[in-house]
Amino acid sequence: MVKWRVVIAVGLICAVAVLLALWVTHSRQMGSWLQVHTGTINEAGPYYGFWSGFGSDIEEFGVLGAITAGVYSLIKKYNCHEPGCWRIGQHPAAGGQFLLCYRHHPDYQGKKPTHELIQRLHREHLKREAAIHGKLDEIHQRLQAQSPAAHRENGSDSTPTTTVGGQ
Ligand SMILES: [Zn+2]
Repeated sequence: MVKWRVVIAVGLICAVAVLLALWVTHSRQMGSWLQVHTGTINEAGPYYGFWSGFGSDIEEFGVLGAITAGVYSLIKKYNCHEPGCWRIGQHPAAGGQFLLCYRHHPDYQGKKPTHELIQRLHREHLKREAAIHGKLDEIHQRLQAQSPAAHRENGSDSTPTTTVGGQ
């Protein structure tokens, strides 16, 4: 189901690329056709017209290929990591492992983040940060208590070491 959407999207992109290529190769002919029929043609001869047209077409193919490759890599880099989703993924999940769109980010439940949700998630984030720092302090103090030698050495200047981790 989801895979079909990817196939259709890729097919559409290919179709557009092919149409662009056709347009580029035929625009020259179309152009001269128009020029011939509107009476504005002014070229040195049939061979000059052929080679200048052919040469510029090769260049245009190169540019087209570069643009297509660039767009493709951009899409691969920035689109949502949910399989089959072509939205731009700008919300990191799992500590930045994934970039997801608002529809697929687990925190947003398929909706655009509302003001309340942003406030709530921010508060939760701050709480989590505080909890992590509290835990680190706890571990730090426990380690100091477990090694009496270190504790004795740092006995006089134990206050600066605890403040480094804490605040
Ligand atoms: Zn998505």
